[in-house]
Amino acid sequence: MLPIALFLSAVLAADAAKESGLKVVTDFPGGSAKVESIDPSGKALRIAPTPHPGKGWACWWNFKLEGITPGTEISLTVSGSGFTIPDRAMFSLDGKTWVHTAPGVKTKGGVTYTHKVEGDACRFAWGPPFGLDDARELLASAAKSCPEAQVFELCKSREGKSVPAIRICGTDKPTRGLWVNARQHAWEAGGTWVCRGLIEWLVSDAPEAVALRKTTEVFVVPIMDVDNVERGAGGKNQTPQDHNRDWTAEPHWFEVRAAQAIIKTMVAAGRFDMFLDLHNPGPGDRSPFFFVAPATILSDAGKKNLEAFIKIARQEIVGPLALDPRPKESGPNYDKNWKAISKNWATEIGGGTPVCVTLETAWNNPKSTPDNYRRVGRELALTAAKYLAGK
Ligand SMILES: [Zn+2]
Repeated sequence: MLPIALFLSAVLAADAAKESGLKVVTDFPGGSAKVESIDPSGKALRIAPTPHPGKGWACWWNFKLEGITPGTEISLTVSGSGFTIPDRAMFSLDGKTWVHTAPGVKTKGGVTYTHKVEGDACRFAWGPPFGLDDARELLASAAKSCPEAQVFELCKSREGKSVPAIRICGTDKPTRGLWVNARQHAWEAGGTWVCRGLIEWLVSDAPEAVALRKTTEVFVVPIMDVDNVERGAGGKNQTPQDHNRDWTAEPHWFEVRAAQAIIKTMVAAGRFDMFLDLHNPGPGDRSPFFFVAPATILSDAGKKNLEAFIKIARQEIVGPLALDPRPKESGPNYDKNWKAISKNWATEIGGGTPVCVTLETAWNNPKSTPDNYRRVGRELALTAAKYLAGK
C-alpha cells in the first residue's frame, strides 16, 4: 500500500493532468485543425480547418485529440459550412481503422458531433485520411505481390517531394493504354481510397485483371497534389491555379507536366484508350457519378466508346455506393476553363476517341467508408477491364 503522502501527491498530479484537459495535435502529415475553444470540462471543443491562404478551400480537418478521460462523450464542433461539415465525422482510436460518428447536429456556422471515446486519445477527421506514406506503402505492396507492377517516381513536386506512381503491364508489346490519377484536389481523400481498391484489383489474380495485364499498359498516380495532401490543405482552387485546371500546353504543376508527357507517349504509340480521374464531389451528391467530356469534342467512335463504357459501369458499380446512371458533362457551361480540365485535355490529345472520365465518389453518405470506397475502385477497375477486353 502507498504511504498516505505519496497517495495524495499521486491524486493531486492526476487532478492537475485532468485540469490541463484536452489537447489538439496536428503536427503530422495531413494534420489540420485550428482550436477555437476547449471547454474546461474536458468534454467539448471547437475547431476549424487550419488556414493555409492560397492553398485552396479550407475544408479538410484531421487531428489527434489527447487528454481524454476514457469513457467520455466528446462533443466536437467544427466551424464551417458545405464541404467542410460532413453529416458524420470520421473517428479512429488507433489512426488506422476509421468509422463514422453518429450524424452531427448542424447549427449556424458549424456542426457538432458527439462520440464516446473509450481511450485517452483518438483521431477525428473530415474523412478517412490517406497520405503520402500510405500511398508509398500501397504501391510497394502492389509491386511486391505482382511482378508485372513497378513503382516509379512520376516527378518531384514543386516543394521537392517525390510523387510516387506505378506502372502495371505484363507484356512487352501492349496494345491498350490506361491512365488513372487521383487527388488533384488534396482534401478529396476518398478519391485515393477508391484508387487503392482499383490498384489492389489490377494486381490481383482476378481473371479479368490477369487478362488486362496481358494487353494493357496501366499507369496509376494515387496522389497528384502531394504538397497540399501533406500540408493538410484543401488544394481545390489554390493559387496560381487548381491542379484540375492546369492541363494546358504549359502546366504550372510538375505532376501535370509529367503526366502529360507519359500520356503523349501512349498517344504516339497508338494505345491511349482510357483516362480516369478520381475525385469526391459536393456534399449534396449522395451517389458516385461520372463527369464526361462534352459531346462536341468527341469523335463518332469516341461517342460509341463512352456509351459502351458507361453501360458496363452501370452494371458493375453497384455499391453499396451504387453509380448514379446519369453522367454529367463538364464543358463550356460548367466552367470557362473547361479545356484545362484533365479529362477534357486527355480527350482532345487522344483525338476525341479515348474514354476520358472523372469519377466523383460520394463522401457525404453513411456508406462512404474506406471499405466501400475500395469496392468502388475494384468495380471501376473491372469496368475498365471489361471495356478494354471488348475493344
Ligand atoms: Zn475534385
